[in-house]
Amino acid sequence: MGTHKIAVIPGDGIGAEVIESGVKVLETLASRDTSLDFHFERFNWGSARFLDTGQMMPDDALQTLKSFDVIYFGSAGDPRVPDHISLWQLRLAICQGLDQYANYRPARLLRGLTSPLRDVTPEDVDWIIVRENSEGEYSGAGGRVHTGLPLEVATEVSIFTRTGAERIQRFAFDLAGKRPRKKLTLVTKSNAQRHGMVLWDEVFEEIRGDYPAIQTDRVLVDAMAARFVTDPASIDVVVASNLHADILSDLAAALSGSLGLAPTANLNPEREFPSMFEPIHGSAFDIVGRGIANPLGAIWSASLMLDHLGEAQAAAQIMSAIEKVAADGTALPRDLGGQASTADVTEAVCAVL
Ligand code: ATP
Repeated sequence: MGTHKIAVIPGDGIGAEVIESGVKVLETLASRDTSLDFHFERFNWGSARFLDTGQMMPDDALQTLKSFDVIYFGSAGDPRVPDHISLWQLRLAICQGLDQYANYRPARLLRGLTSPLRDVTPEDVDWIIVRENSEGEYSGAGGRVHTGLPLEVATEVSIFTRTGAERIQRFAFDLAGKRPRKKLTLVTKSNAQRHGMVLWDEVFEEIRGDYPAIQTDRVLVDAMAARFVTDPASIDVVVASNLHADILSDLAAALSGSLGLAPTANLNPEREFPSMFEPIHGSAFDIVGRGIANPLGAIWSASLMLDHLGEAQAAAQIMSAIEKVAADGTALPRDLGGQASTADVTEAVCAVL
């Protein structure tokens, strides 16, 4: 397949620790398979750069990223920088700027791991959450006036476009069609949010006839949060707005064992721009520098990245190595109930490979 050009942005906190694990796993794979070749280029963008220069990344960052096949990202966030600055100047700037509108978030209870839910099996917890990743509640529209005065006003405007709703819902339908159970649940809050979310409902009704093989239902986000806990086996693929899916996917990750395990792909499905792969967890400053961060979310994200690059076999090898490490149980990190360090877990995955 030629050389895959990968832009590596470790970012803040434990981002650097887990991304180095993922790179090591990819290098191990390439050292065993001569048809695989990666070119990594690291970008030192993040909060340290912000504190030095006032910018998380340079002005021409998006232009630079466009020359890569994919982006491998750690996390953004540092206690010394306001969260809305670190998030908007780095991660969201990339997702919106490169129109990575489809956020793909698998959550699975791997064999050998324990869910906080009682009596569930790996078959019950096998979900994909599809998050609209370019607009909605995180469109960035709004502003503040009368700043600092008692009559100060802040607006946070959700933008829902027909194009945005339709393209993400079609992505989710296509994805559900490739899964054995072929189920898709539309999650909204269209009883209370009566404009944008009603548009989402209408678009869903208009297009679902194009996918006769898919079994569908519609659930309000609060009811869906409960259903993740009370009836996990009824869930397959879920599509929701930027905010709702953001929250539901942290819940899904926690129910599948730990936030440290969950991967994500920020996709530009048309491949007009590079897509970005990252663990869903944040910079976790409470454990930074201690060598105990769980690297499996970052390693799983590397597997999603290989799939996107057309390296299905190599992607499956990484996934199967993660599954073996989970099932074996001797090299589990602390958040999954073990004692292994980041380096130990990485070594265990590489040893399986
Ligand atoms: P951010 O604002 O960047 O999202 P955060 O600290 O609010 O950061 P997370 O970084 O997602 O949120 O962390 C939430 C909790 O989960 C923390 O206690 C953190 O230590 C734990 N955690 C997150 N990721 C991991 C990981 N990879 N390994 C172990 N624990 C993790």
